[in-house]
Order: sequence, then structure tokens, then C-alpha cells
Amino acid sequence: MSKMIITCAVTGAETTKKDNPNLPVTPEEIAASAYDAFLAGASIIHLHVRDQEGKPTQDIETFKKAMSLIRKRCDVVIEVTTGGAVGMTPEERLQPVKLEPEMASLDCGTVNFGDEYIVNTIPTMKEFASQMKAHNVRPTLECFDLSHVYASHVLIKEGLVEPPFHYGLVLNVPGGVRYDVETLDFFVRRLPEGSFWTVMGIGGRASLLSHFGALSLGGFMRVGFEDNIYYSKGVLAESNAQLVERAVRLTQEAGHEIANPTDVRKLLKLRGA
Ligand code: ZN
Repeated sequence: MSKMIITCAVTGAETTKKDNPNLPVTPEEIAASAYDAFLAGASIIHLHVRDQEGKPTQDIETFKKAMSLIRKRCDVVIEVTTGGAVGMTPEERLQPVKLEPEMASLDCGTVNFGDEYIVNTIPTMKEFASQMKAHNVRPTLECFDLSHVYASHVLIKEGLVEPPFHYGLVLNVPGGVRYDVETLDFFVRRLPEGSFWTVMGIGGRASLLSHFGALSLGGFMRVGFEDNIYYSKGVLAESNAQLVERAVRLTQEAGHEIANPTDVRKLLKLRGA
């Protein structure tokens, strides 16, 4: 197994300070939390930003600010979201790719999202993949459903995404596929040969269990307030770093090393490598 890559999704689009007062919201708070997560062992930061009212935004200037504040502190790999938030237009969502981050998420299909839904048609996905290719941004092919894995094959077949492929398997979104290790295994077996993957279990229990799934099946882990605000049942996490620290401990107990940003750049052939 290669070294364990830990991604930290520090903010996301859904969580509020009411849910967990430790949530970073302003670019300054996000950068400070990202730096702490990096010091704890995260090598990729999955980045969302918020406007002055704390609402999700894909505003390019806000992304620029957060990215430069993170960059000032450390050389962690930055993966911007192009999922954005429910109800945003594709054009809106795609904006931060223009900043040429090393990585970006690319949602591979439509899915229930609680009472709402995330829409990604094949033409939207193709447009996102071409823009990422044009800007030399490595996509994380986010799959919330098995059909999304097959939809990603369309992008690959058309040459819009090139190897090495990195998948983000997002399980346990309300209204989507539940997390269990058998389901994760089923997904993993259907990825193109040689693909790398990171599993994201949404919610406290699924998030923790997904770390064991990653260790068992040879994938990477994602932690952070976007996916889960708890440390344990009913106990709010104190920080993103606290969740990274636990992922690091589990990985080391299992006898694996933790990847640093240089390892990630080499493995996923990022532009910074
Ligand atoms: Zn996200």
C-alpha cells in the first residue's frame, strides 16, 4: 500500500457555527484550520469558502484570498470544490478552477442530498473535465452512486480525464448509498485499473468506519467538518486537526506511513511535482 493520504475538508457548504461553533468560516479561520490540519498530518485540503454572512459561495476573490492565506502558511495540496452548494449553476460552481489549484472535485452525477438534490448532467461533467484539463487541474472524480462510477468512464473514454485517476467515493449522504464496507468494496472493484481513491463517509459513525474501510481496501481517508462535526457520539469535534490526528493514529497503528504533500504531488502527478 502507498503512504496514506489524508484529505481534510475543513468547512464544506452545509455546516454552520450553530451546528459546531469550531467551524472555520472566514478565509482567515479557514486558513488557520487548514494549517493546523496540515500540521496534524493532512496533505490535501478540500476547500469551500463562505460569504460574509457565512453562506456558501463560489466567488473567485474569496477563494483567492483563502488559497493565498493557506499558501503563506504551508505547501499543503489544495483541492477546490466545484460541487459548490445545492442550487448553484454550473458556471458559478466552476469559477475557482480558473485560479489553477492543483486539484478540484468533479461530481460525476445527480444524487439526492437530503430533501434536495445535486444535479450533474453528462454535458456538465464534460465541460468541468475539459476546463480542469485546460487549467492542468487534477480532478477528484466524486461518486455518490454506482452509476457515477460508470458515468466517469465516459469522461475517461473521451480523453477528458487522464491517468492517474483519483476517485472520491462519497457514501452515506442522506438519500444516497449507505456506508458499509461491502458496498465500498463493490464500488472499488468497479474503478478503472490502477485508480487511486479516497473514501468519505458522511456523518460521525460512517466517517469513522470509512477510515477502517480505507485501511482494509487500500484507499485514502477524508476527514473534516464538511463530512462530520462529531468526534464521538454526541460529542462535537474541537477542530479539524483533532479529526486528522485520529486518522493518523489509526493509520500508524495499522503499520502505514502518512503521505506528505510532496508524496501526493508525485503519486497523483500534480503540476507541482
Ligand atoms: Zn466539498
